[in-house]
Amino acid sequence: MSRMRELIDTLNKWSYEYYVLDAPTVSDGEYDRLYDELKLLESETGVIEPDSPTLRVGGDPIEGFKKHRHIERLYSLDKAVSKEELASFDEKIRKAGEAEPVYTVEYKFDGLTMCLTYENGYFVGAATRGNGEEGEDVTAQVRTIRTFPSAISYKGKLEVKGEAVIRLSVLKKYNETATEVLKNARNAVAGAIRNLDPKVTASRNPEIYFYDVNYIEDGSISSQREAVDFLKKNGFKVFDFTKVCKGISEVEDAIDTIEKERSYLDVLTDGAVIKVDDYRVREELGSTEKFPRWAIAYKFSPEEVTTRLNDVSWQVGRTGKLTPLGILDPVDLCKKKKKKATLNNFGDIQKKGIAIPCRVLVRRSNEVIPEILGSTEIFDDSVPVKKPEECPFCHSKLKEVGANLFCPNSTCRPRVVAKLSNYASKDAMNIEGFSEMTAGVLFDKFGVSKFPELYKLTREQLLGLEGFKDKKTDNFLRSIENSKKRPLDCFIYALGIDGIGKKTAKDLAKKFNSVAALKSASYFDLILMDEIGEVLATNVVAYFEDEANIAEIDELLALGVDPHYEETRSGDKFVGEKFVLTGTLSNFKRSEAQKIIESLGGEVMSSVSAKTTIVLAGEEAGSKLDKARALGIKIIDENTFVQLINA
Ligand code: NAD
Repeated sequence: MSRMRELIDTLNKWSYEYYVLDAPTVSDGEYDRLYDELKLLESETGVIEPDSPTLRVGGDPIEGFKKHRHIERLYSLDKAVSKEELASFDEKIRKAGEAEPVYTVEYKFDGLTMCLTYENGYFVGAATRGNGEEGEDVTAQVRTIRTFPSAISYKGKLEVKGEAVIRLSVLKKYNETATEVLKNARNAVAGAIRNLDPKVTASRNPEIYFYDVNYIEDGSISSQREAVDFLKKNGFKVFDFTKVCKGISEVEDAIDTIEKERSYLDVLTDGAVIKVDDYRVREELGSTEKFPRWAIAYKFSPEEVTTRLNDVSWQVGRTGKLTPLGILDPVDLCKKKKKKATLNNFGDIQKKGIAIPCRVLVRRSNEVIPEILGSTEIFDDSVPVKKPEECPFCHSKLKEVGANLFCPNSTCRPRVVAKLSNYASKDAMNIEGFSEMTAGVLFDKFGVSKFPELYKLTREQLLGLEGFKDKKTDNFLRSIENSKKRPLDCFIYALGIDGIGKKTAKDLAKKFNSVAALKSASYFDLILMDEIGEVLATNVVAYFEDEANIAEIDELLALGVDPHYEETRSGDKFVGEKFVLTGTLSNFKRSEAQKIIESLGGEVMSSVSAKTTIVLAGEEAGSKLDKARALGIKIIDENTFVQLINA
């Protein structure tokens, strides 16, 4: 019983922070774990305390807002976290007399439940779910949102339900200029709508996706499919996914698709919602105090968790830029253990309210290292993170440029190692057998810190190194020699200019055609290019204004490095097309297909984004294909590709 009390008190405190303050201190996964423990204890003991969170839907309306009573009660959803739990949900439905239930599967967006009321064909008010019976009247706030109609053709009394969300890209943009970052899209949207000042709501650009008709006066809707059609016809924004599934195995397939696609979506999702389609069956099944029995939320493993940050360590990159790294208590994120997470720079540490130690919210990112979204709790013994004055490796006094700190010492070891290994990498000068370790050894033994010094290494020097036998040494020297003949774009990438990746290096090579022309490019020449913004243009100009860099390049050219640009265009069929290649092609190597596309004026991108226009999918195409489908991008197979080339 004492554990039960402890759980109830903790969960109620967390619910208050989550529902009332819109500032949770723990992630949903951690809340759910304790909630499940409490539910188990309650079923074992048969005791349910009157203040147990298992009896409540959401939170009561906060003072300051007028209360709004919903016509029809708004429920929360029961949840399943495994396929077994899903099967037992299906079994209950079938036991209740529905031999072959038809289900719909929808995305579960993680935002704030909204209920909008219409009368005589006009929007008359919006409210939060609150405790299910009464929510907060947020009509003025919701009027600032554009994704729902003010007038509809249906004239009876109507309540529609949807989820208010803030797109992840919109949140990111907002945070770039905000003095205090909004950690998570769910709290950001809840805070935007439950804000007494509608201007604040508007400034965060929320949207609402609609998914249910909660009440319709003439009772003219009799299934989820009809409800979704009704919403679409009346001009409500509906996410284009509802899958109709006969039986639970089709439901599982639909869930698998959502789980794959969701990491590409610009909206935070925490699961899929499975609903019995037929309203007649729903009525027979009824509801508990808290959940309808005819629907369930299938929750995915969390993409965000909180953990303790114990320290911040500083890494030095090839441009000398210092990047902070949060050192964490190991934590499971999307089934992987994580001990480190990224922060951008010192300004970011301050904006995110990081202190040592503190509790932080961490989000999985498409990179290997997850990202720290912000601190959720500061402890009594926490101390602010100190701004480093000197480089943690070579102790040079740091330079501050904007929000970033730089080590100015061009021979600082980690900086040299990163710079040389980037220069030698496959997509740059392609020096085979050159690793970070090689860079470190060459620096430690011979003081190699600049690119030209690589071309001056002698056979004798290399033979003196551990692991360098005759053959390896010869191969290594040959590879260094071969690097003199790399294409211009690879050379530009190899220079390691801040922010210039492979794709931009290609664009620069195409635009300027030679090292000499690029060296004298002005800020305006650069900024006029589609692919280059202010930051990159400034970086390129600054790089070529630095005399040390120019000297290094001139020496490389004098040593015989001769980057060449070849215009290989033989047609313009693909001008304006941005391709992504995925899967195995049977008639071409990927690099051949890329050459053909480029020779016809098209571009090849490495990953699918909203800018991609065509995805060429071979056998066993994986996540890129899923993403292309999710984004509605044109997908072609190899045969169609051949037809296009030959047309
Ligand atoms: P829920 O978020 O698990 O699911 C119900 C909600 O899903 C609905 O109200 C609706 O708004 C939404 N939804 C999204 N798409 C939908 C669709 N297509 N069809 C129907 N509904 C859809 O339940 P809840 O009651 O809103 O919140 C409970 C959860 O909140 C807990 O499981 C926990 O994860 C979280 N919580 C966290 C904390 C914390 O401190 N981190 C505290 C309290 C609650």
